[in-house]
Order: sequence, then structure tokens, then C-alpha cells
Amino acid sequence: MSTITLDTVRKEFDTGDERIVAVEDIDLEIRDGEFLVLVGPSGCGKTTTLRCIAGLEDITSGAIRFGDDDVTGLRARERDVAMVFQNYALYPHMNVRKNIGFGLKLSTQRTAAEIDEQVESVAEMLGIEDLLGQKPKELSGGQQQRVALGRAIIRDPEAFLMDEPLSNLDAKLRSQMRTELQTLQHELDVTTVYVTHDQTEAMAMGDRIAVMNDGELQQVGSAEEVYRSPVNEFVADFIGSPSINVFDATVEDGVLHGPGEFSYALSDPSPVEGYDRVRVGIRPEDITLVADGIPIETNVLEPMGNENFLYATLGDRDLTARIAATTRPQPGDIVEFDFAESSLYLFDPKDGAALKTKTDGESDLPSGAELAEVAE
Ligand code: ADP
Ligand code: MG
Repeated sequence: MSTITLDTVRKEFDTGDERIVAVEDIDLEIRDGEFLVLVGPSGCGKTTTLRCIAGLEDITSGAIRFGDDDVTGLRARERDVAMVFQNYALYPHMNVRKNIGFGLKLSTQRTAAEIDEQVESVAEMLGIEDLLGQKPKELSGGQQQRVALGRAIIRDPEAFLMDEPLSNLDAKLRSQMRTELQTLQHELDVTTVYVTHDQTEAMAMGDRIAVMNDGELQQVGSAEEVYRSPVNEFVADFIGSPSINVFDATVEDGVLHGPGEFSYALSDPSPVEGYDRVRVGIRPEDITLVADGIPIETNVLEPMGNENFLYATLGDRDLTARIAATTRPQPGDIVEFDFAESSLYLFDPKDGAALKTKTDGESDLPSGAELAEVAE
């Protein structure tokens, strides 16, 4: 077990007529035993980053370390990591027992009996001990994925590298496997980098989440940190479902003027000092319908059972709100909304940098620094 350090890692591909920067100078430290989720839209460089860590790609510049060891020049088989892919890549002619034991047979001096024993213990851990005699084609997608995991686990690697391992499973099985995988990872305590394009999965699974866009690392933090304190508009928009509402506004004497009749006087205008335009962000769950707020026109109401999603129009903009299940405006109805200033996000209109993020629901507990002071 060890930390994995990416030190200004860059990966360019030369396709003949162009150079693609797939990974742009990423600095990232994955802690010992951590479950880190690398998330971002398709094509942002997640798989390439993972393949660089695995040693399946030579990096263009920078360095990769496992613990204190520089592994930059080492090939994949010398790095002692186990990869799990979306396509399980099981050997079709081998049964489950052989599929799980195969890597161990190649890489160790163990006797057949010892390997059998280990295969059985891993299979039991994954709940597939009754399937050891079966061939991959006789298994469901979820069972096949467990076999692929078993093959990774039995090697007792320095790290697990997983590339969208659950995306071939249906929604219900996927959420069950998420939980299982998390439990398993915490039990095994092996440093894990897990790639997904699904922010819900990232939020649910990661000890920490690393958000990527366009080859660049945007932010690393806990689910709560990236949700509440995104560093920029991209992260704010990518994390959260339904997505945050974002629109342009002008700033005049501390008052924001947006689409339609949107007008909001900031009690604390300091974040927008020096700005005559900003991007305003409001999460759907921070919107409340009130009697005397900002008017919006209802387009569609989607009942979720425990709540309703309200899709409305604010001037020339769409606005999404999560409202009580008992509140049911009809298409065409004008309703009015409000929100708390503490829940408001503001972004720089040029580079998207966050000027203000959430301060609502902040813990009353003293911070670590304050506690340290008290202790002295
Ligand atoms: P993700 O996994 O986030 O969807 P990838 O890491 O697969 O993204 O790809 C990042 C970028 O690098 C994309 O623009 C992709 O087209 C490009 N890319 C990936 N692999 C290669 C390759 N072998 N040759 C050329 N371009 C590649
Ligand atoms: Mg990928």
C-alpha cells in the first residue's frame, strides 16, 4: 500500500496531423488507502491519466511516484497495480476459478492447492463461491464484474485502478455494486483510483473527488467541498443533479439584475466589488416558492414522489427548482421564487472563477485552527 503522486504529469498524443494534450500538467496526491474518484465529461483525459498511472502509457513530461519510489520509467508489469475495466476481459474458455487464479499462477511460486485456497477465499468475499465451475458466458453482467474484481483482488496489488467498471450494469445493480465495492475497498484498505463520468457515482463513492475538464485537474476535495465550494463555474455545473441554474447578471450598487424580472440586492456586495457583470448560480434545491418573489413561468412539472422538479422560464432563460411534492403549479402558471443569499454562488464572467460560494448551513463547531488555539 502506498500513496500515488502525480507530479506535473503531461500526456500528449501525436496523431500525425495534430498534437492532442490529453493530460495537462496534473499535480495530484492520492493518499495511502484512499478511494479517489476521477470524474469529468467524456474525453477529458480520465482514462489516459489512469493508463499513465498504470504504466500503460509513457508520459510526455513529469513524474509518477508510488510512495517514495519513482515509477515513471517502469513498465506496467513492474508497477504492481491491478486494473479493472468496463469490459471485464475475462478468458471465455476458462471457468471462474481459473479466471480468478490465472494472474496468481503466472506471477507467484504458489502451489496449485495454495492458489485454490486463495481463489476460494476471494470468491467468498465477493459472494461468487458457488460459481467457480462456471464459464463467463453463463454469468450475468454483475457476476462477471465480480470475477474481474476477484482477479484484481487476489493479486494483492499496491493499488487498484478502475475505469468505469460498473457502466455496463443496469441502474439497480450498479448502485448495489457501488456500495459493495466501497465496503470491499475499505476492508482491503488498498489505494484506489476509480474513474467515472457519472457525478452521482463520484459523489456517492469517493473519499475524495478529483474533477477534470479538458485535460486539466479542476479541483480535488470531498463530495461536500466540491458541491458547496466549487472553485469555478465548471465544477459547480458538473456536480449536482439537476444542475445548478447559472445566468448572466449586471451589478449596480450591489444589486444583481438578471434575466426577466430577476433583481436581487446583496446584503454583502463585497464579492462583486469591481465587477459590473457576474455569473449568478442558484442550485435547484435552494429555490423556494413564495408570495412576493421573482416571477417565473411554469413549463413542466415532474413529480419525483418525495418532491417535484419544476422546469420554468425566467425571462429568456430556463430555471429548474426542486419544490415540495404538495406544490403543483400547472404549465403556464406564473409563480414567484426566492432564495437565501447564503446559498448563492457568484462567478467571474471571464474565467468562471468562483467569487462566492455557499455559506448556508455552515457548522457552528469551531474550526481545527480555533480548537488548536483553545488547546494552547
Ligand atoms: P476520457 O477517459 O475522459 O473519456 P480519454 O483519456 O480517453 O478521455 O481521452 C482524452 C483525449 O485524448 C481525447 O481527446 C482522446 O481523443 C485523446 N486520446 C486518447 N487516447 C488517444 C490515442 N491513443 N491517440 C490519440 N488520441 C488519444
Ligand atoms: Mg475513458
